[in-house]
Amino acid sequence: MVESKLDAKDAVYSAEILAGDPWIHEVKKGQYFRILDLHGNQAVDTLFYNARDYSDRYSAQDTIQRQANIYLTTGSELISTQGNTLMTIVADTCGRHDTLGGACANESNMVRYDIGKRHMHACRSSFLKAITQWGHGLEKRDIPSNINFFMNVPVTPEGKLTFEDGISDSGKYVEMRAEMDVLILISNCPQLNNPCNGWNPTPVQVLVWDV
Ligand SMILES: [Zn+2]
Repeated sequence: MVESKLDAKDAVYSAEILAGDPWIHEVKKGQYFRILDLHGNQAVDTLFYNARDYSDRYSAQDTIQRQANIYLTTGSELISTQGNTLMTIVADTCGRHDTLGGACANESNMVRYDIGKRHMHACRSSFLKAITQWGHGLEKRDIPSNINFFMNVPVTPEGKLTFEDGISDSGKYVEMRAEMDVLILISNCPQLNNPCNGWNPTPVQVLVWDV
């Protein structure tokens, strides 16, 4: 657990992402980026791309291999498919972020829960909506396995993944430094069928600092 020394009043950018909404934004090398869990227990599905080459993007496999840990926290480097460090986590008051659970999708809602859940709002649709509206060439194939900030997905001794009640709380945050110009894509998860959002999706805040 490491707290940030940055003050919200000094941020050069601040936005609230409403429950279930997507968000897309570019940060410059050296800027600091924070995601603040405003109400607690809110999963924030997030992807990172090299802003100069979108084919060079966050890689769950390389990130896990480089740090030899499936969970992310202070000191974790987020590694791209070409082996570059996109972001380094520099502060974290939650303590655990998931690399394995992936994004909820209409298909997985149907398979995991009920055929009637197929049309419920899902992160993968939010990602697609954001990149389509943004209009800079990203498409469906450009959505790889993502990070779930604040989401608690422990691996059991039998090697299974479970979606557990969150360990985050109101006011917890994760903060990272951009090690290159990076495009950030977020789906503030709308999931209602498991406890990843405490059965009640809520807004989060994103902030950027020049340091
Ligand atoms: Zn989701």
